[in-house]
Amino acid sequence: MRITGTMFYYYFVCHRKLWCFSNHITLENESERVLLGKLLDEASYGREHKHILIDETVNVDFIKDWKVLHEVKKSKSIEEASIWQVKYYLYFLNQRGININKGILDYPQIKKREEVVLQNGDKEKIEKILGNIEDIVSQEKMPSLINSKICKSCAYYEYCYV
Ligand code: SF4
Repeated sequence: MRITGTMFYYYFVCHRKLWCFSNHITLENESERVLLGKLLDEASYGREHKHILIDETVNVDFIKDWKVLHEVKKSKSIEEASIWQVKYYLYFLNQRGININKGILDYPQIKKREEVVLQNGDKEKIEKILGNIEDIVSQEKMPSLINSKICKSCAYYEYCYV
């Protein structure tokens, strides 16, 4: 199974969202928040090489001078998911012999950035998560609703609750 950065991110956000997205229930494109993220990305980093698709699986926002990987986010609201998405990218590249050891999470809207590196034990944790993602995505039944405050801003809100 090809596990994209978005899938890895959704694993930390909501397993139901991960399942829906991976099973091609793709309401995400219609979300205004996603569109805003795209516009922000394009406006803030126009001169960089952007959206580098690696091994037809992960789509990295950009890699500065081929040394530091950047992922652009609009807010820190689900920061843990963003951090693990960047760690997954670093892991994914390292597994393919591309030794980029540092990632930066960029939050242009709030003018903040955060450095992300792989630490001891992260590789094992990522490999365990990859197995969990495969299990979740291939199960027949959709995972349960999470009834969280983040649901209100999720592209699947109407699908889940209305
Ligand atoms: S609305 Fe909530 S439960 Fe439904 S997919 Fe989104 S985050 Fe998950």
